[in-house]
Amino acid sequence: MQEERLTLEVCTHDIASCNICYAHNYDSENADMIGARVDKLYELKIGDQVLTLCDKCLDRLRERLAQRFGAENENKASGGQIVLFTGTEFTARDKLGQSYRYRMIGAEVTHDGLIRLLNLDTNFLTYVEPEWFRQRKIKVIQKEAT
Ligand SMILES: [Zn+2]
Repeated sequence: MQEERLTLEVCTHDIASCNICYAHNYDSENADMIGARVDKLYELKIGDQVLTLCDKCLDRLRERLAQRFGAENENKASGGQIVLFTGTEFTARDKLGQSYRYRMIGAEVTHDGLIRLLNLDTNFLTYVEPEWFRQRKIKVIQKEAT
């Protein structure tokens, strides 16, 4: 089996810090130390590179990706995958013409990459696969203010 070259996992090292903001997962005597004390860090592996990221910076990365793909989708006018970030509200119309309103709650960091949505019409929480978006017409209503 070939080793996965793109992974995102919870960092298991006792002493680590975020590559972006220097948030660290250990207590330090040094009061001048840069970065916040955090409980959890993530390891993003891309090929031979391993980046350590905190929750906040991981969120920023996700927003950067969303903006990047959002811009490309606007160019394409329709089709292509829309990447939504937490807080985005949208309507999804399926093949039968049924339209529901949803709010993106977040993406699960699992191998399935399930996406958590709140159906605003029924108030039910639902988990969908990325494929779900490709099977529906998605229209973004509102993006969370940044
Ligand atoms: Zn950080």
